[in-house]
Amino acid sequence: MGDDVKRMCKWTRKKLQKDLSTFSEAVKDPQFVCTKCIRIANTKKKLCMPVALTKKSKK
Ligand SMILES: [Zn+2]
Repeated sequence: MGDDVKRMCKWTRKKLQKDLSTFSEAVKDPQFVCTKCIRIANTKKKLCMPVALTKKSKK
C-alpha cells in the first residue's frame, strides 16, 4: 500500500502472486518499457526509466 509497489519495477515474485490481477491490468496493453529493469506497463508511472514502445503501424 506504499508508493513503492506502484512501479512494476519494484514488484517481487511474492507481490506478483498476490496481486496477479493488478499486474495483468498493468501489462495488458503495454505502451512503455523500463530500460533499466526490462519491464513493461501501460503507463510510464509504473516504470522507473520508461521509454515508449515502438509499435508497428497497424492502422
Ligand atoms: Zn524500472
